[in-house]
Amino acid sequence: MNAPINMPPLVQARNVHKSFESLEVLKGIDLDVAPGEVVVILGPSGSGKSTFLRCINHLESINRGSIEVDGEQIGYRLNKGRLVRLSNHAIALQRRKIGMVFQQFNLYPHMTALQNVIEAPIGIHGESRRQATENAMALLDRVGLSAKADNYPRQLSGGQQQRVAIARALAIKPKLMLFDEPTSALDPELVGEVLATMRDLAKQGLTMIVVTHEIGFAREAADRVVFMDGGKVVEQGKPEDVIGNPQHPRTRSFLSRFI
Ligand code: ADP
Ligand code: MG
Repeated sequence: MNAPINMPPLVQARNVHKSFESLEVLKGIDLDVAPGEVVVILGPSGSGKSTFLRCINHLESINRGSIEVDGEQIGYRLNKGRLVRLSNHAIALQRRKIGMVFQQFNLYPHMTALQNVIEAPIGIHGESRRQATENAMALLDRVGLSAKADNYPRQLSGGQQQRVAIARALAIKPKLMLFDEPTSALDPELVGEVLATMRDLAKQGLTMIVVTHEIGFAREAADRVVFMDGGKVVEQGKPEDVIGNPQHPRTRSFLSRFI
């Protein structure tokens, strides 16, 4: 939180367009995220929030515009004035900077919590098992689950599984974390523990883009709230302004559902 000033943005999205065949889903998104900043994206279902997050780590390719993360254009490079798609290897290297947590936590069911967390650092990043395990235990401790390291996902609650998924995403030491409705699949009584973990990460200075319907989280943890509708950023600003005093009719009507 409290993004440092005069630092180049960690994420710089410019005029991002994305269509699925004839359906235009993103209609020119501009968004900068400073290092250490926590941005919460609100918006109705179908407004393109997930698609935008997926474009940031190139799970979807964009049709127009550009997305830079940490000074590198995601998915493409310029060659003689033309954009050329990067190799799969180069894209994989870019993705190492970006952790993502989904609504469905998708842990490997046949692996323990610890094994889930060390899998990518060992398998993809070539860390030693000892080093990966040490780091993973610290991460499980950070999400309050060091006592559950040897449990399998089926032995954990949904909230615990999602916290393991957060630890797993952090294990690649990302510069940016993307959260796509991380609490939407949870029973209501389990939402709080996951939000508390995310609040801690926000306080520790992690750069985060969070899509959520948890207005309370947005109010307390966000440096900035972005309201999306119909594939566009309709309104953005400090949480107290966007949530407390929304200017756009679409933002007002969306937020009125939560009061
Ligand atoms: P949100 O996350 O805000 O609910 P999404 O980004 O998931 O919105 O979806 C925006 C629109 O794009 C929806 O109309 C959805 O049906 C469509 N969409 C998303 N992914 C695909 C896809 N892979 N193929 C076709 N249409 C898609
Ligand atoms: Mg979505």
